[in-house]
Amino acid sequence: MMLSRLSEKLQNTLGKLKGKGKVNEKDVKEAMREVRLALLEADVNYKVVKEFVNKVKERAIGEEVLESLTPGQQVIKIVRDELTELMGGEATELNFSDKPPTVIMLAGLQGTGKTTAAAKLANKFKKDNKHPLLVACDTQRPAAIKQLHVLGDQIEVPVFSMGDKQHPADIAKGAIEHAKKNQRDVVIVDTAGRLHVDEDLMTELKQVEEKISPHEILLVVDAMTGQDAVNVADRFNEDLALSGIIMTKLDGDTRGGAALSVKKVTGKPIKFIGTGEKVEELEVFHPDRLSSRILGMGDVMSLIEKAETSMDQQKAQELEKKIKSQTFTFEDFLEQLQQIKSMGPLDQIFDMIPGMSGNKKLKDMSLDEKELVKVEAIIQSMTKEERTYPEVINSSRKKRIAHGSGTRVQDVNKLLKQFEQMKKMMKQMGKMNKSGKKKKLPG
Ligand code: GDP
Repeated sequence: MMLSRLSEKLQNTLGKLKGKGKVNEKDVKEAMREVRLALLEADVNYKVVKEFVNKVKERAIGEEVLESLTPGQQVIKIVRDELTELMGGEATELNFSDKPPTVIMLAGLQGTGKTTAAAKLANKFKKDNKHPLLVACDTQRPAAIKQLHVLGDQIEVPVFSMGDKQHPADIAKGAIEHAKKNQRDVVIVDTAGRLHVDEDLMTELKQVEEKISPHEILLVVDAMTGQDAVNVADRFNEDLALSGIIMTKLDGDTRGGAALSVKKVTGKPIKFIGTGEKVEELEVFHPDRLSSRILGMGDVMSLIEKAETSMDQQKAQELEKKIKSQTFTFEDFLEQLQQIKSMGPLDQIFDMIPGMSGNKKLKDMSLDEKELVKVEAIIQSMTKEERTYPEVINSSRKKRIAHGSGTRVQDVNKLLKQFEQMKKMMKQMGKMNKSGKKKKLPG
């Protein structure tokens, strides 16, 4: 999952506290020593770590936490709150202009995922019923213009370009005129990058900024580059009036330091995170959700949002009914597997469910295409009764099903177990839904 090593370490350390009926000052200090190491190892800026750990320690020891009935839980809650605060507290919205078009300029080094992020944003705006225009101002890397056109075609968003001979500032200006004439209400300007920060790049970007006065200047940084990403952000922040950060590649094996320190170091919030190469893989950044995810408390809000964007409305409605009435059968299971698969890699999904992120059994459950074919065969070999009431499947039935589907009894057992777990997960989703914390699935 996102920041898995850090997450594992913190969960281990804090898990020890959770299990204790009594927690004393020494326990807190000991735990904080481990938290400190985990954060440093995750490549979080050392000053940030120091301040963070001191704050947690102070609150944990100071606030009658240790005398409370659930001291371990309280300490974990403090860690969660402080992590959230560190990453900027509330999610930060984009600033849309009353007088369209809203102009969003992207900046960043080469290879960070700027062009991809431009397309991801356009795709998101389009889904929000806006009318984006992508603008190719990366005249350094001719392939970038082509790349933007390809992405634009894919998501059916128009791309404005004037080749690589004009100055980027003039292209951007031309694009805004074009947007006004053609009722495009959000203009997303992709600019050139370099391998390293250099004066030419900064001058060019400043010229673009001056010419078009963007409503938002978002810096794209690559989470994989750790502290470097933070240093680069600091440097861009000196020359450009950045309004926020898009942190890409958080899906990879990043240690996470950048995500945790960049707000504190630059003062600029992360507004979006990139969680994959696909054009849908951009999320609004919610510090509270990420800190919950890191601490293994799940992230049901994101899960429900993901479900909402990747399932069709009618299916979602049916699913909700089934979750509520708990009449979820093997046939639904099969359909759900396919739906859930379309939500993204399963381990990412499980990490969003409270209590599931540490669940080894679920982690080991890999669902590739081949596996799905097997699952399908097994379910098809069941009778209608068995699909609806799997508890009737005794060992002779198992043998029959295995035989009929060309699988082994172990496979049937495995599927039955997975089904139980899936049901549990659905129940969790159902409960969260009912608590009405967020707009429900439609219906
Ligand atoms: P640019 O030079 O900054 O415009 O970078 P590109 O948009 O061309 O992206 C560079 C590479 O990073 C491409 O292979 C992208 O597919 C990949 N990439 C971009 N964003 C993400 C992300 O969030 N996750 C992952 N895994 N890869 C990404």
